[in-house]
Amino acid sequence: MNTTTRTGAGTGALPDSLISLFKATFGGAPAGVWAAPGRVNLIGEHTDYNEGFVLPFAIDKRATTAVRPRGDSTVRLLSTSGDEGIVEADAAALAPGAVTGWAKCPLGVVWVLQQRGIEVPGFDLLLDSDVPLGAGLSSSHAIECAVVTALNDLTGAGLTAEEMVTLTQHAENAFVGAPTGIMDQSASLRGASGHAVFLDCRDQSVQLVPFEAQEAGLVLLVIDTKVSHSHADGGYASRRASCELGAGVLGVAALRDVAVADLEAAGGLLDPVTYRRVRHIVTENDRVLQAVETLRSQGPAHIGGLLDASHASMRDDFEISCPELDLAVDTARGHGAIGARMTGGGFGGSAIALTPVRDERQVRDAVVRAFAEAGFTAPDIFTVTPAAGAERLS
Ligand code: ADP
Ligand code: MG
Repeated sequence: MNTTTRTGAGTGALPDSLISLFKATFGGAPAGVWAAPGRVNLIGEHTDYNEGFVLPFAIDKRATTAVRPRGDSTVRLLSTSGDEGIVEADAAALAPGAVTGWAKCPLGVVWVLQQRGIEVPGFDLLLDSDVPLGAGLSSSHAIECAVVTALNDLTGAGLTAEEMVTLTQHAENAFVGAPTGIMDQSASLRGASGHAVFLDCRDQSVQLVPFEAQEAGLVLLVIDTKVSHSHADGGYASRRASCELGAGVLGVAALRDVAVADLEAAGGLLDPVTYRRVRHIVTENDRVLQAVETLRSQGPAHIGGLLDASHASMRDDFEISCPELDLAVDTARGHGAIGARMTGGGFGGSAIALTPVRDERQVRDAVVRAFAEAGFTAPDIFTVTPAAGAERLS
């Protein structure tokens, strides 16, 4: 695990200033500006690739891209963060494994569109994103969703949101090299202001569930531990393998098909580690359903216990937490948060803490203090609210 300062993130530039920068960089105006948000997952971790349920929302931090098609097959890419400068590639000669760096995100999208038989011209692209990198808020998908939305418009491909979800998943899996499910893109492409996205990962159906924390006197704090997760590391892949093994032994298509009531019998069939992995998925699916029900019937002030139980399950059964995440969660809970959990793939990244507005300062201060006392890198703490999904801005 590495700790980073993540200083490279962009500024959340407005379309006008992005257009000016595009003109100064590439000469001439972009054909348009498209944005797609990062996401935070309220509950439902590692359930997506088990064909289960997740409840993320699109956040008010996003990747914004200004794009202009070119007359040739050259792609030129520039991000306002980092110091890579302009990256150039040939859209007609893309292959998985041949691209490095952040260009994998936009070029992976080009590649999957081509695989699908859609002709993508060369283009110039300027990216500005204020989604923190590697914090578990899906900065990579924010880019991919902005790019697929832009290229869908520019090529007139007429793809539906569901199709774009599947395509960007394929881009992440086959081209970027991250074995992720469909949650992140679904939140980014299908999210809506004031709502969480209740997604059934088996059939991709989505129901928008009101999540108005502010109206309930709450804020959702994100505590970025600055511990970088990496999907390339073995942890994520090994958890997926355990889930597949568990489903195979239990004779189901996916762990989605195992009910909480089946767990006791499953205990006799699985080795202890696989059993705990399975138990996390099965109980987590159930917690998502309970959270949806609770949000609809009682509101956000009543989901705290589910967030806490989710964290305990990830820490003890799925074993994807880390000392920084546990400290963030425990400290937030001890200073007023009504529920807290790690969010995202695990092994680093961020925790969320649902916190009464009146306790926000106290929770922030306590977490910063606890990290300093533990000798951890200072965390980044900010609030997120459910925002619009991917859209064209100009
Ligand atoms: P996450 O998606 O959880 O934030 P990932 O490791 O999947 O973490 O994605 C981070 C990668 O996405 C970075 O290494 C980089 O390639 C790319 N990326 C994200 N934001 C930017 C940005 N503003 N500029 C350039 N590349 C970015
Ligand atoms: Mg990512």
